[in-house]
Amino acid sequence: MYQGEPTLKQADQSGPRGCNTAAALAGGRIREQFPILAITVHGKPLIYMDSAATTQKPQRVIDAVTRHFTHRCSNVHRGVHKLSQLATESYESARETVRRGIGAAESQEIIFTRGTTEAINLVAQTYGRQRFAPGDEVLITAMEHHSNIVPWQMLRDEKKIVLKVVPINDRGEIDLNDYEALLTDRTRMVAVALISNALGTVNPVKEMVKLAHARNIPVLVDGAQAVGHDVVDVQDLDCDFFALSGHKMYAPSGIGALYGRADLLNEMPPYQGGGDMIATVTFDKTVYNGIPHRFEAGTPNIVGAIGMAAAFDFLQETCFEAITAHEHDLLQYATEQVSAVPGVRLIGTARKKAAVLSFMLEGAHPHDVGTILDLDGIAVRAGHHCAQPVMDRFGVPATVRASFAVYNLRSDIDELVQGLHKVREVFCK
Ligand code: PMP
Repeated sequence: MYQGEPTLKQADQSGPRGCNTAAALAGGRIREQFPILAITVHGKPLIYMDSAATTQKPQRVIDAVTRHFTHRCSNVHRGVHKLSQLATESYESARETVRRGIGAAESQEIIFTRGTTEAINLVAQTYGRQRFAPGDEVLITAMEHHSNIVPWQMLRDEKKIVLKVVPINDRGEIDLNDYEALLTDRTRMVAVALISNALGTVNPVKEMVKLAHARNIPVLVDGAQAVGHDVVDVQDLDCDFFALSGHKMYAPSGIGALYGRADLLNEMPPYQGGGDMIATVTFDKTVYNGIPHRFEAGTPNIVGAIGMAAAFDFLQETCFEAITAHEHDLLQYATEQVSAVPGVRLIGTARKKAAVLSFMLEGAHPHDVGTILDLDGIAVRAGHHCAQPVMDRFGVPATVRASFAVYNLRSDIDELVQGLHKVREVFCK
């Protein structure tokens, strides 16, 4: 704190504090904390159901970003002046908030990245490139996002490793027996999404880690769709790496994190070279910095990290008990209501699902469905959701996807259903 900087209380007017209940979320008061929800689109109030692509931002996060630029903007780690010290303090304290938010043991196990994609590439290009030999296997599932497929394929082409894929059933679930049968003495890594963005499936990651660890195989968890929707505890999952994206958990884009077990990170070579990741540099030799800074070359996304910490604070105050109950209610309601629309086929009907509803409407291309809904201010995603193998598995080119977050209401789903009836009038006569 220095002169001119507002106290936290003055600066952050993000509304009522204290834990929510599911009933309170269903009542919609939390929407007041999201200024964008007050806008209109094509003259209609915005109904935002594309949170699996990116979430909207609460005032608290917007304020944290503004506060940083207004009062603390400076580079980190290298300055002796006051502002630089304050920026460093905020940045490192954000790391500690992320650590707490995902239950890691030590803050040095949190590496700030651009997001999930960069976190997975980091592991592939450091751990994988250093340790994998020709014939070694990486095991993924058939429901992975491209960002948990392509980095391993790039490594496959370079290191001649083998990429194996656990199949999914018609509901969009993996079978643990299939998974176990694919673990071999050549498996060097399991990389799996905790929640599928295209299907909403929640994978049995804890059991998968147990089975992999019994064979000394490390596990990377893609947590992009999980953080922000339920409690994540990396120590409880017992995973070795965990990747997350800020923008999917109410924080800005361009920031995310990789959690890695300290003993593994300490053994890994750097990802990129540059400032901050070194201890000493001469033209003959460079000694690298310790973790986490060894993996954060160059000026990081300082304000992004601060915004992400504010988002973790928002989540903690909103209460996961309320969030999971509310989103579960929305999923159930949406599943009932949307599947009652004639011609709807749900894609992804796993028994354990997060608040993502992917579907097809017979006679209408998903892009046309999305475009007509948009005219009513309803934002859903239409496409392959960066999971083309999932689309191939279900024999569809794309799906319409409605995905929910704390600010959605049952009435949003009613509007969606009305919109689908309108689409039917145009396309399905
Ligand atoms: N994995 C999953 C399951 C995702 O949903 C996404 C984003 N759609 C990603 C990875 C990639 O995240 P990002 O683009 O933020 O790096």
